[in-house]
Amino acid sequence: MNRIRTDILILGSGGAGLLAALHAHKADPRLHITIAVKGLLGKSGCTRMVQGGYNVALAAGDSAERHFMDTIEGGKWLNDQDLAWTLVTTAQQRIRELENEWGCFFDRNADGTVHQKAFAGQTFDRTVHKGDLTGIEIVNRLAEQVWARGINRLEEHRALALIRSVDGSAVAGVLLLDLRTGGFTLVEARAVLLATGGGPTMYKYHTPSGDKSCDGMAMALRLGLKLRDMEMVQFHPTGLMAGPDTRITGTIIEEGLRGSGGHLLDNAGERFMLRYDARAERATRDIVSRAMYEQMRAGRTGPNGGVFLTMKHLDPASVRAMFKGMVERCADVGFDLVSGLVEVTPTAHYMMGGVRFALDCTTALPGLFAAGEDTGGVHGANRLGGNGVANSTVFGGIAGASMARWLGEHGARVEPDLGQAEAAVAAATAPLGGDKAADLDDIRCALYDAMWNDAGVIRDGAGLERAENTLHVLDVQLAATRIPAEPREFNMAWHDWLNLKNLILVSRAIVAAAQAREDSCGAHFREDFLKEPDPAGASFTESHLVGDTIRVARRPVAFTRVRPGESLLKGAA
Ligand SMILES: Cc1cc2nc3c(=O)[nH]c(=O)nc-3n(C[C@H](O)[C@H](O)[C@H](O)COP(=O)(O)OP(=O)(O)OC[C@H]3O[C@@H](n4cnc5c(N)ncnc54)[C@H](O)[C@@H]3O)c2cc1C
Repeated sequence: MNRIRTDILILGSGGAGLLAALHAHKADPRLHITIAVKGLLGKSGCTRMVQGGYNVALAAGDSAERHFMDTIEGGKWLNDQDLAWTLVTTAQQRIRELENEWGCFFDRNADGTVHQKAFAGQTFDRTVHKGDLTGIEIVNRLAEQVWARGINRLEEHRALALIRSVDGSAVAGVLLLDLRTGGFTLVEARAVLLATGGGPTMYKYHTPSGDKSCDGMAMALRLGLKLRDMEMVQFHPTGLMAGPDTRITGTIIEEGLRGSGGHLLDNAGERFMLRYDARAERATRDIVSRAMYEQMRAGRTGPNGGVFLTMKHLDPASVRAMFKGMVERCADVGFDLVSGLVEVTPTAHYMMGGVRFALDCTTALPGLFAAGEDTGGVHGANRLGGNGVANSTVFGGIAGASMARWLGEHGARVEPDLGQAEAAVAAATAPLGGDKAADLDDIRCALYDAMWNDAGVIRDGAGLERAENTLHVLDVQLAATRIPAEPREFNMAWHDWLNLKNLILVSRAIVAAAQAREDSCGAHFREDFLKEPDPAGASFTESHLVGDTIRVARRPVAFTRVRPGESLLKGAA
């Protein structure tokens, strides 16, 4: 096992990882900072895929208080309110920093102010964007800034396990697997940031980038850390439904389409959302996804099994101008977004749940920090569109500064537990040794179906129990699957195996938390427990791994800034 040393090791190079590197470097340029990333820096993860944009209260008439209330009400009062307040207030600084310090250009109004568009679930048009492909602008500029600072990069290196110190009291490093060589590297670090971006890619229809397999959450579970709100998986309403033979099925077309007046229709042409919510297509993602799923279950679908999005009642020139990227994406798979019908399905998009973390991005394990989609608590039961990239850039920046500060105060390097690192190598190499290419497709498809049908948009006790049993069977099957040990370089079947291992573990955490929550709240909808909990008694789930069992507890939400029935907006309670 190769061994290297760094001061700060950042896992992941999305919005959270890149901002963390830049802020840590700014706080103390002498620090040796390393970013290890499973893909390529600047080309991997979901921040690059951000389409619609970035929520922030900038315009006259909007306020951090209003953004906060939208976030809390969208989150069904399950949010950690101090985290949510940090999100909305720091976003106001971060957006200016992204423009003025890191060089991002966002679209502007004729008077030079930043243009902000409508997103669902918001009482104000506050989504800052660069056309309809905002993430490319953000990640390209941030990656350039990271390159310019000479921050150390380990690209195509996947983190396999967080390694504790010999006495177990702190994190001492991370075991990495180099995809290019198949070799192992133990990076000893004084501080580690988990920023691998969650990503519910265990569902049949999903949006996140292919490099994401919940690795951060799986590593945190194995380390014994607590994760909150794992049952809260967000389904985005408008995933493209282009048939089974294309990977574009499940990828999204953006929320601004509904925000700017797009309609959803069933196969008879009925605008069914009017029956579900006064806001119709602009209702929050959970409500729209559920209504769509009900049409699909009842068979009121198009040829591929989805429902339809249409913009044809709107001005074609403005649809073309505002949604150029989306128009082209739809055309690529034969749909006419401007004047026709686009077949769509709810698609697993985002995990509101994740590692429990504090305002300064510390976790329960000294030296280990977390930020971005790997964390839980900011969004509660439902994330507003536009709050995801705000979350990763806000808390990534905080984590960077916080790690630099922490190193100044608790700087001593601790010895890694080599026994733990060797055990992690043994676990990762366990499947190697077969003599023919393993076909993991059956396991993957069974996982997709189990999670989609039994732990997806609409759930019940019987389905969740079925999912629990299926996940157990799949875990056993996976353990028995052998992968040829050669070549070690880019052995993608091996990486697939490792991905599935993590996805099955995190799926078990989703199912266990969904079983523990016997109510319907935000993204979590139980057909056998339709009652919404009283927000005044809101509680979140907290899951952790004990031996091979996932234990789930319910904890009361602390209303640190506003109580249900009250508002931070004057005269609005
Ligand atoms: C198609 C799409 C559109 C979206 N649009 C919007 C939008 O308009 N507005 C919005 O607010 N949010 C949007 N989101 C959500 C948003 O992208 C995420 O909330 C956010 O960007 C996540 O940032 P992150 O830094 O936590 O993770 P990511 O940006 O996903 O980065 C994760 C990084 O971790 C790396 N990684 C993963 N596993 C490992 C491992 N084992 N070892 C090392 N590295 C690893 C990955 O390669 C990647 O570099 C969208 C998401 C998708 C998928």
